[in-house]
Amino acid sequence: MLTRFKPTWMINSIYEITPAEIREMGIKVILTDLDNTLIAWNNPDGTPELREWLEVMRIEKIPVIVVSNNNQKRVEKAVEPLGLPFIARAMKPLTKGINEAKKKFALEDRQIVLVGDQLLTDIAAANAAKIKSIWVKPIVETDAWNTKLNRFIEKIIKRRLQKENIIKKVWGHSLND
Ligand SMILES: [Mg+2]
Repeated sequence: MLTRFKPTWMINSIYEITPAEIREMGIKVILTDLDNTLIAWNNPDGTPELREWLEVMRIEKIPVIVVSNNNQKRVEKAVEPLGLPFIARAMKPLTKGINEAKKKFALEDRQIVLVGDQLLTDIAAANAAKIKSIWVKPIVETDAWNTKLNRFIEKIIKRRLQKENIIKKVWGHSLND
């Protein structure tokens, strides 16, 4: 039961993912959560760091597709200035959004990874869809009200995962950590 929340990798931040190590793992396309993974939930404009990371991915031809549980309007507004394709109302931990992205962009399971900051939604969805996942630290410590309960449960699950040595105790800085 616990393994449904087991990420393939856990790293400090999405910005630390490099094209070289993504390719090394056989991954061609990055699916990513939006809030607190790519941008701070309370700073929808993003940061220079984000733009720089996206630019590197663009140059290296690694598509980044946003898969968010948020509604169409909200995701469109956040993602449009960044020029990223997106799937809204993904219904993570269900596989709906991931499957939609796979279909829309003709992706194969082994070529994709889902990056996200929440075990209960992002990582559970990736595991349900049988794709690889990268669990990242949330960009900001505080959460929107609707995430607070999930965080509480997440803390308990994280402790169990660590106790049973299913996940590491420290966040890596690379997929090889
Ligand atoms: Mg999130």
